Parts: sequence; structure tokens; C-alpha cells
Amino acid sequence: MSTDKILFDRVTKTFGARAGRRATAGAVTALDQVTLGVRPGEFLVVVGPSGCGKSTLLDLLGGLSRPTGGQVLVDGRPVTGPGMDRGIVFQQYALLPWRTAAGNVAFGLEAKGVPRAERAGLVAHHLDLVGLGGFAGSYPHELSGGMKQRVAIARSLAYDPDILLMDEPFAALDAQTRDSLQDELLRIWERTGKTVVFITHGIDEAVHLGQRVAVMTSRPGRIKRVIDIDLGDRGAVEDVRSSEAFRQHRHQIWTLLRDEVRAAQAAERIAGTGADGGRIPAEADAGADRATSAAARDEEARVG
Ligand code: ADP
Ligand code: MG
Repeated sequence: MSTDKILFDRVTKTFGARAGRRATAGAVTALDQVTLGVRPGEFLVVVGPSGCGKSTLLDLLGGLSRPTGGQVLVDGRPVTGPGMDRGIVFQQYALLPWRTAAGNVAFGLEAKGVPRAERAGLVAHHLDLVGLGGFAGSYPHELSGGMKQRVAIARSLAYDPDILLMDEPFAALDAQTRDSLQDELLRIWERTGKTVVFITHGIDEAVHLGQRVAVMTSRPGRIKRVIDIDLGDRGAVEDVRSSEAFRQHRHQIWTLLRDEVRAAQAAERIAGTGADGGRIPAEADAGADRATSAAARDEEARVG
């Protein structure tokens, strides 16, 4: 059949729909017939406006929920639940507060049944990999947001999943920390050869990280376009974000998203009245939204 590592095959997800009944007025179709393949070892970014179904897509792939239509395949087999073949990093740090950094990284290894004697070495290696070799004994409350996210990444990598799923993992961080974690993630990806599915609503983040970028429509989420990103030799450019290739990709994605962002904002205004039960975005989310629309305004100014 196909050589996809991951395949979303006409995946639909409707919330609030009851089996055997017609869709009620309160039902929300988050994803509508999404078809998308991810190649082995690929770094695929999914970008789309807030509320378009990005987290829903990742939750389905993580096995945290089930599609209402179609199927999600990993290595040709339908996803039936969470598994050690897929590591997930969420926007919220999701660390165990009563465990040290090392204890948090060890957690997945314990779940996988890795013998104690092997654990210590793996924990140390993965803390080093994310630049936290000196913080093994620190508790989450002693770490900055960026460091907590590094621990979460180390935890996901330590039990050696084939696939790393990341749902806006850097959205809550300040711009400089975000930039350096993006670079670090690229280095880790190059070194480990994992298949990465990375969700964001940041255009720059998508261009910087993705080998391909799948652009979603506003809700109900569909794949609007999949774009190949070619930034030439990343290593040869001092500031890849200021290159002409980067600018062109940014503009291409911005153009695709412009109408979608407007549609989503209109829907959010309606949701604000409580009419369709839309979720109020988390504060950090709202901050990142502002960043996206600021980037869009920038771009508009340049274009206009
Ligand atoms: P994104 O991650 O792109 O911001 P989500 O995937 O979180 O969007 O949500 C897509 C849509 O599905 C939103 O309208 C959201 O309100 C709705 N939704 C998400 N999860 C649930 C749920 N558990 N129950 C009902 N509606 C949900
Ligand atoms: Mg989300």
C-alpha cells in the first residue's frame, strides 16, 4: 500500500454527536475528512488558526480519542490507544511536580519496564541531550518554563518512541527561549531520526521547523495545502529566518491562512456569546494568537 509512517485516512471527528442519532444542534465537527500522510523520519508541521482542530488531530494520533469517521494508521495499523511508540509533548508542561527532572525523565522508562540499572544512564543521556545535565536533581517548580519543556522533551525521547507528537510545545515561552528550543529540537531530530508531528499556529515556527507544512482550514478542520519547505543549507545561513527563501514561505503560508484566520475570528466572536460552546483560549494561547496576527499585520504592511 503506502510507505507512510502515519496516515490519516479520511478522518472525521465530531464532538457531542450521539451514536445512532442525527447530529444535534450542539454537535461540533472538529475535523472533516482529513487525509494526510507522514513519511518515516519526516518533520511535519501542522499549522492552522486557533480552534481549527489541531489538538484534536494530535489526540487522535496519540490514541487519546477515537475518530468518528475514517481511521488513523501508524505503520499501517489502526491506532487503538496510547502506546510507547508515540511520545507526546503538550503545551502545558505536564511534569510530575513531586519528582525531580531526573525522576520525570525516568517515569516513561519505568512504565516501559526498563531495568533500574539501565535507567540512570538513559536519564543522564537524555537530560544532557536537552542541555539540562546539571539539573537532574531540580524539581519542576525550580525550573523555568523553557527548562520544564526541555524535561518534557527528554522524558518523551528517553523511552525511544518512533514518533514524537508535539502540540504547541513552545507557545507559552518567550520568543528567545522559543527560538533556541526550536534550534535544539531540530538538532535532536537530526540526531535521532524520529518522525515528528509538530502542531503550531505560528507561521514562523512552521517555516523554521517543517520539512513540510500542512496548512489547515478553520473549523471544521481540513487540510488546505501541504507545502514543501526548502531553506537551502540551514547550516550555511547565520539567521535562517531573515533569508529570502524563509520570507517567501512565510508569505505563502500567511496568504493561505489569511482567510482562515478571519473565518476563525468571526466564529470566535459568535462563540463569545456562548452560542456554540466554543472554548475560551488559554492565556498563553491568546498570546501566541496575538503573535500570529501581529506577524500577519507585519506581512500585510509589507505587501500592502
Ligand atoms: P486547536 O487545537 O486547533 O485550537 P481543538 O482541536 O482544540 O483546536 O478544537 C477544535 C474544535 O473542537 C473547537 O471548536 C473545540 O471547541 C472543539 N473541541 C475540542 N475538544 C472538545 C471536546 N472534548 N468536546 C467538545 N468540543 C471539543
Ligand atoms: Mg490546540
